[in-house]
Amino acid sequence: MVYVNGRFVPPEKAQIPVTDRAFLFADGVYEVIFGRAGRFAFWDLHMARLTRSAAELEIPLPLDSAGWLAVAKRLWSEGGDSGSIYLEVSRGAAPREHHFPDRIEPSTVAFIKPASAPESCLGPGVSAVLLEDQRWLRCDIKSVNLLPNVLAREEARRRGAREAILVRDGMLTEGAATNLFVVREGELWTHPANHLVLAGITRHVILEEARRLDLKIRLEPYAKADLAQADEIFVTGTTSHLLPIAEIRDEWRAKGPGPITAQLHDAYWRRLTTELEPAASAAASAG
Ligand code: PLP
Repeated sequence: MVYVNGRFVPPEKAQIPVTDRAFLFADGVYEVIFGRAGRFAFWDLHMARLTRSAAELEIPLPLDSAGWLAVAKRLWSEGGDSGSIYLEVSRGAAPREHHFPDRIEPSTVAFIKPASAPESCLGPGVSAVLLEDQRWLRCDIKSVNLLPNVLAREEARRRGAREAILVRDGMLTEGAATNLFVVREGELWTHPANHLVLAGITRHVILEEARRLDLKIRLEPYAKADLAQADEIFVTGTTSHLLPIAEIRDEWRAKGPGPITAQLHDAYWRRLTTELEPAASAAASAG
């Protein structure tokens, strides 16, 4: 089932008008949340980011956190064990004008993308390519305007790599759909959460765990020119969790499994599997 503007319908019946501004202008915001057996990881953090993204674009949100949770649970009752739920809100449908239409109702869509439940995500590492960051200057908004990200991922795929790491003015910003972390001499670097990157929920949890582990954190962009000095590199995101980078084509190669990457992975994995909303006790009492 798919949720569209208050109704639960089979995917082939899910319809949005061609005048919807998400279709015409990518004028919408979205969230992606990891779920397992009808419970969702870091729910409140995702809700806070969705609220902020929508507010930045002046799109009113038709549902509050409890409303979204009810939609998510109903969709999941048909779904499998593990996967992600996608929530999307566009400004709505209206005759095509660039500026905001005067009277317009937002369009709301939610659907589940099932995935097999990974036992843990710490594999041998993946390949990445370095590409110029061609995105706009409001990467902090989780908007559906993802064309530069799509092109970067496609270029990575054509070169046999899993992720594209983006470079703006000589500094590494983030992955096409992940945040980037670099470990150098025991210090953990990641781009500050400003207008040039998305403030990832996974990034947030990793930073909390890094503080708990007493790691020295540098919220600074890492220079492409300093890649040779990087000891460990990994990327994070809701659907890829924590992925070690084994190589950046023509630029950098991991010397072996990274100990700090492994520590952070284990800490993150514990939280991912224990901090599910609603809590098991609440879910049980709600039937
Ligand atoms: N950066 C970008 C550009 C993304 O698209 C994403 C996720 O889609 C992330 C970072 C990771 O964010 P999160 O951990 O909230 O999934």
